[in-house]
Order: sequence, then C-alpha cells, then structure tokens
Amino acid sequence: MASGGRTDLDGAAVAPLTICVIGAGGFIGSHLCEKLMAETPHVVLAVDVYCDKIRHLVDPPPPRLAGRISFHRLNIKNDSRLEGLIKMADLTINLAAICTPADYNTRPLDTIYSNFIDALPVVKYCSENSKRLIHFSTCEVYGKTIGSFLPKDHPLRKEPEFYVLTEDESPCIFGPIVKQRWSYACAKQLIERLVFAEGAENGLEFTIVRPFNWIGPRMDFIPGVDGPSEGVPRVLACFSNNLLRREPLKLVDGGESQRTFVYIKDAIEAVLLMIENPARANGHIFNVGNPDNEVTVRELAEMMTEVYAKVSGEPPLEEPVIDVSAKEFYGEGYDDSDKRIPDMTLINKQLGWNPKTPLKDLLETTLTYQHKTYKEAVKTQMCLATAT
Ligand code: NAD
Ligand code: UDP
Repeated sequence: MASGGRTDLDGAAVAPLTICVIGAGGFIGSHLCEKLMAETPHVVLAVDVYCDKIRHLVDPPPPRLAGRISFHRLNIKNDSRLEGLIKMADLTINLAAICTPADYNTRPLDTIYSNFIDALPVVKYCSENSKRLIHFSTCEVYGKTIGSFLPKDHPLRKEPEFYVLTEDESPCIFGPIVKQRWSYACAKQLIERLVFAEGAENGLEFTIVRPFNWIGPRMDFIPGVDGPSEGVPRVLACFSNNLLRREPLKLVDGGESQRTFVYIKDAIEAVLLMIENPARANGHIFNVGNPDNEVTVRELAEMMTEVYAKVSGEPPLEEPVIDVSAKEFYGEGYDDSDKRIPDMTLINKQLGWNPKTPLKDLLETTLTYQHKTYKEAVKTQMCLATAT
C-alpha cells in the first residue's frame, strides 16, 4: 500500500495504519488525532465517551477526512464493541484515564478502577489478538525523588543521581496508603508491570509512555464554563481560570514543588515517532518531557501572570498569588511529587526526539488561546453568578 510519502527513521516506507485511539476526545487525544489527520495517511478509530475536543474532526468528518476518522462513543468499562475495534486496528493507543490530581485522594476507587481495572481488557485484547499497544502511563510512577528524603540543604540533593528520573533505573517511591494521592501512581505502576509482563511472557508488542506535564490549548476545562463549577483541573487550567476571573493564583503549600513542562505539540511529535518506528519503540518505556523547562509552581504562577498581562492587555493584580494549604485545596490525603526531571537519553537514542519549545513561548501560545476561547464566556458566567 502507498505510504503517503512517509518514511521511518531507517529510511523504510511507512505503510498506512489503522489506529484505535482510546481516550481520543481528551487533551492529548485531540492533538494526536489532529496531527494524524493533518500529516499522515493513517486511519483513526477514535474511542471516547465525549467528542467535544475533536468535534471539528468527527461530527461529521470534513470531506477531506472522509474514510480517515470515525468516532465510537463507548465506555471501555463495559462495552463489547471494544474488542472488535482493537481487532480492526493495527495499533491501539490507550489514553483513557482519570488523571486530575484533585480526584486521586477524593475519588481513589474511581481512580484505581480507571487506571488499572478498566485498562485490563485493552491489554488482554491486544495480547490475545497479537496487536501492538502504546499505553499511556505517567511520570508520577516515579513518585518522589531520592533526594527529597535528604535534609533540605544537603549537598547531595544537587547531584543528578538524586533527582533525575531514568526509565529503567530509577525506583518508584510513593507515600503511605493514607496519602491517597498515590492511588493513581500505584494503579499506573501496576498496569505498566502488567503490560511489561505480557511482553515478556506472551510476546505483546508494547510501548509505554510516561508524560511529564504536557500542556497547551484544550487542556482540561475552565470551571463553570466547560466543566463543573466546583471541579479542580490541573495547574495550567487552574491558573488560567484565576487569570480569566482576575483573582489571585492559589499556591498549594507555598508553590515549592518543581515541574518541567513540555509543549503538547512537541510531545505529539514523539508519539508519532513511536507510532511509525515500531522496531525502535517496541519493548521500551519512554519519558517524554522537557528538562530545560523546569520551574517551581510559584515561578510558573509568576510567569503566567506576566504572559497573561501581555496577551490580554489587562494589568496584573496587585497581589497576584495567595498561599493555600494542600488540605484546604485538595482535602485529606493529598501529597506531592517534589521534582520531575526526565532523563532524555533513551528517547533521544531510540527515536532522536528532543523537545523544542521554551516555557515562555508555549505559555504565550496557550494563554492567547485561553483568553480568546474563554474570556467572554467567563465574563458572562460571572455576571449570571452575581445576578442569582
Ligand atoms: P484527558 O482527561 O484530557 O483525556 C482522557 C480521555 O479519556 C477523556 O477524554 C475521557 O473522556 C476518556 N476516558 C476516560 N475513561 C474512559 C472510559 N472508561 N471509556 C472511554 N473513554 C474514557 O487526559 P490527557 O491529559 O489527555 O491524558 C491522557 C493520558 O495521558 C492519561 O492516561 C493520563 O494518565 C496520561 N498522562 C497525561 C499527562 C499530561 O501531561 N497531560 C501527564 C501524565 C500522564
Ligand atoms: N497547584 C497549585 N495551585 C493550583 C493547582 C495546582 O499550586 O491551583 C500545584 C499542585 O499542588 C502541584 C503542581 O501545581 O504541586 C502541579 O499540579 P497538577 O495538577 O498540574 O498535576 P501534577 O503535576 O501534580 O500531576
């Protein structure tokens, strides 16, 4: 079959694939579907319970995409159509999950079921039908760094071996069971172990992806506009919501935790390389992040405040941030990862991938999108709320 002109990293033509994308209607799924439609000849079977973020691709597909993408509204918990779709595809990519930290300690059962139990049939059908699987895990499987257990000013904390997270070497360090924050990380770790074991014992062809804070347009929701008023999304959407409403950004426990943020479009390039280079990607677990974009959460808040003022033309508040305790913000059982620097050696060696976009640039693009998409809706919602 024609390759659509695409070649893999070894110069061989890439045959068009049929890809079952589970969780296609989410943040990462929507960017992946867009990329596959715009730049490849691959066919997508898009599975999700919602399609709002890919409506422009599937409801109905524009004429240029006829026969290239179809939407299958189903819940993988309990739908017998799942196996048929996996059988129809050459490759399955599983993105479906509950993956917002506010849920991990408040809905631990749903979190564990979603990230482990509900993923089991996907792994089983891929293994039994000899289909390739790309499974989305998380950088949270690393948990806390080794260095975090040393005294605050201990010199070893500065040594990379005490904080850099390496796929096949670093341990997974979680807090105690009462800290239910770790329900997500633990469920993701167990499904990783199961996928790995299916590879070792039954020959499943798999790749595991560990995203390190991928961010960009369409991430999560703005509470009260396209999500529940009381909902707590991930930090990008929380801070965007505060900026749109002209309220201070809330720093949990002083905003001292450190994160590395990668632009969604850079990260999707890495996923496409995995899709089109199975010989280089199979059997591996890959970190996908940007070690050069490290900030504390406080620094992120300051940067977002500055960038939002620039893109919106609105001056920042006099007190742009406030401190809140984790218990107040997330409730009982919250805990945090202290620092997340991905080791990029493996993905660089296998797939030649490197992230490109500096944090400031990706925040500028993303906050421009947030302002254009949500400012009017937030204003309307705030007027309605004061009127009632
Ligand atoms: P998301 O919440 O935007 O997308 C997940 C999608 O899965 C949603 O559209 C949801 O409706 C769908 N889904 C959930 N349960 C389902 C079910 N039972 N049946 C059908 N569809 C279901 O999240 P995302 O940011 O796109 O993350 C995708 C994956 O990447 C998740 O597995 C997540 O754990 C992992 N991940 C993402 C990040 C990140 O930075 N965005 C970081 C770490 C891990
Ligand atoms: N956070 C914060 N204020 C908010 C939302 C999040 O200080 O309004 C912090 C949170 O405690 C964590 C970091 O921001 O230290 C990143 O949170 P996110 O929800 O994006 O997920 P995580 O990286 O922990 O998986």
